[in-house]
Amino acid sequence: MRIDLHTHSTASDGTQPPAGVVSSAALAGLDVFALTDHDTTTGWDEAAAAAAYHGIELVRGIEISCQHQGVSIHLLGYLQDPTAPGLLEELVRSRQGRQTRAQRMVELLSQDLQLHWDDVLEHVDPGATIGRPHIADALVAKGIVASRYEAFAEYLYTGSPYFVPHYAPDPVRAVRLVGEAGGVAVMAHPFASKRGRVVDDAVIEAMASAGMAGLEVHHRDHSGDEVRHGVDLAASLGLFVTGSSDYHGVGKSNLLGENTTDPSVLEQIEGLATGAKVLRP
Ligand code: AMP
Ligand code: FE
Ligand code: FE
Ligand code: ZN
Repeated sequence: MRIDLHTHSTASDGTQPPAGVVSSAALAGLDVFALTDHDTTTGWDEAAAAAAYHGIELVRGIEISCQHQGVSIHLLGYLQDPTAPGLLEELVRSRQGRQTRAQRMVELLSQDLQLHWDDVLEHVDPGATIGRPHIADALVAKGIVASRYEAFAEYLYTGSPYFVPHYAPDPVRAVRLVGEAGGVAVMAHPFASKRGRVVDDAVIEAMASAGMAGLEVHHRDHSGDEVRHGVDLAASLGLFVTGSSDYHGVGKSNLLGENTTDPSVLEQIEGLATGAKVLRP
């Protein structure tokens, strides 16, 4: 069984529509995969139909933007009820915050570069969660940089003069809201220090106390030491460990199935969830 529990589509900052991610997942030989777009579940229905067609199991999920004392944290939620009001309210607020933040960043960039808001909108699907990768795509299309990676390294990194933060809920609150929605919360790439600042273990402990069930330890943004620390910390907090690709289509070099999750962990996720079911063809 090959299980990959973290992927993105054009419902957020991936480059393939949900059905495209599904067909790529089937082609990559995955048996089960999760669609986890940033702050939205709008890709779920298209993914569900495509998963039935391609004969692949689908875990419907989300990656929730959170913030703790200025540090960005990503929380994966699996099999939650997408209509649960508490979580929904926070997601609407985050997506609105992202919209004004992206506009502010483009305003700042346009003072130095030939870039306009319309250039960015060309790369955002209607209703999609907007993020820095869409600004990156516009910079690439304009020939200002060669790739999303270069766009982040030059202009979009956290702390850049063009960087603007956006509203996101506290992670402990987000964990509770996922639980109230019948979902299962897993912290995404908790120690990925190459992305920017990370929180210390006390925050992860507080998230575990609030009902978080797992840590995404096996992820390409973690060093060997970070993986070892994650395995130890998960064991000491009674959390399970997942591994995933964080696939973004051609937006990143992450390959489907490059990290995978043990079938026994998927069983635990299914056992804990009450908001939605794993879809089996
Ligand atoms: P945002 O959600 O707007 O804060 O942007 C963060 C997203 O940008 C992440 O989910 C990644 O998909 C992507 N990202 C972050 N850092 C980089 C990087 N150095 N190169 C390419 N993409 C990145
Ligand atoms: Fe992303
Ligand atoms: Fe993430
Ligand atoms: Zn992700």
